[in-house]
Amino acid sequence: MNNERCNLSTWTIIAGPCAAESFDQIIKTAETIKINGANILRAGIWKPRTSPHTWQGAGEEAIEWMKIAKNRIDIPIATEVKDRTNLSKLLEADFDYVWIGSRNGLNYSLLEDTGKLTSNTNTKIILKRSMNASLKEWLGASEYITKYNQNVILCERGIRGFSEDTRNILDLQTAWLAKQYSGLSVIVDVSHAAGRTDLIIPMSKAVKAVGFDGLMVEVHPNPPEAKTDQDQQINFKDFEILTRELNKIPNL
Ligand code: PEP
Ligand code: MN
Repeated sequence: MNNERCNLSTWTIIAGPCAAESFDQIIKTAETIKINGANILRAGIWKPRTSPHTWQGAGEEAIEWMKIAKNRIDIPIATEVKDRTNLSKLLEADFDYVWIGSRNGLNYSLLEDTGKLTSNTNTKIILKRSMNASLKEWLGASEYITKYNQNVILCERGIRGFSEDTRNILDLQTAWLAKQYSGLSVIVDVSHAAGRTDLIIPMSKAVKAVGFDGLMVEVHPNPPEAKTDQDQQINFKDFEILTRELNKIPNL
């Protein structure tokens, strides 16, 4: 049982591609985001895709790319734990953070297994809100992990709604309540909430101004060529603008 609570002590930016596509892409992105003040590199290794006929992620070889980026660029690394088999591999590789994605956000056996298997490790867990979870369900899900390991950060990433103009509805209200009720750090993934790049800077500013603990944002060296989520990943130039804009907002 790990009783140590993972409270992000300062405003934290988790940035990187939707998916790890190549060694070169990971290293270039890690370098760029770090120079611009990001704290953690993210990239999906096994991607949960809507269709089984599309590319499913680079898989195991990307673990090595992330490990090299961590050591060479000196930046903590994060990826999605899609199932229990992957989790053991990520713990062996000493990932600093693993996140449970929205599609698994109410998968109680994976939540429990993740809590148990990480409890004696340094790996922290980011729990994304299931796209159809109420506050009660999201907090309940978090307790399946905190029962074994308190090192949990919650991540709002938008919920399903009726808007045709955005991928999801960014629900800062419930995210704020989650922060108040759980006492855990809460970050916001603006990329999967918006599904489009033109909302990333304004929504990120809102997230910081409100006083959330951090941001998750998808950044790709060449978004139109990305293998997944082309429409919502920002390029390096826009990431630089984003961080410059965020620096104007004080840490609360
Ligand atoms: C992701 O962050 O790559 C992802 C798949 O997000 P979500 O689970 O929130 O859809
Ligand atoms: Mn994505």
